[in-house]
Amino acid sequence: MKAYMGYDAQVGPEEGASLVFARTAKEAKKVFWATCSGDLVEEFTDARVKLIRDSPWLLREADPAKVAAGEAHALLAPKSCDNCGQWGHAAIGDLGLCPDCLEARRADEKDGLRSGRLN
Ligand SMILES: [Zn+2]
Repeated sequence: MKAYMGYDAQVGPEEGASLVFARTAKEAKKVFWATCSGDLVEEFTDARVKLIRDSPWLLREADPAKVAAGEAHALLAPKSCDNCGQWGHAAIGDLGLCPDCLEARRADEKDGLRSGRLN
């Protein structure tokens, strides 16, 4: 199974995307439509899926039983960053943040300590 991002071409993936597990793009699109039409996508002709390469952390979100059965499936709300709301570009850490936001927060905290704001 591979990880795909399913979204509506009219609004783009930033406005809401589904994490789809499937063997092919064609299968991913079918499952995305079956699972997310009315929620994330309005017209079948606007349904798009994009393969997310090198993303082992996404595959860990797949339903193990469905993977074992070779059943393609989609997650309407994949685990996403608490700060920027994005997913798919990097693993979300234990703090619920993507590496970019985690780094930004650490930098903020360092600045805060330096200026005494956090005391
Ligand atoms: Zn983030």
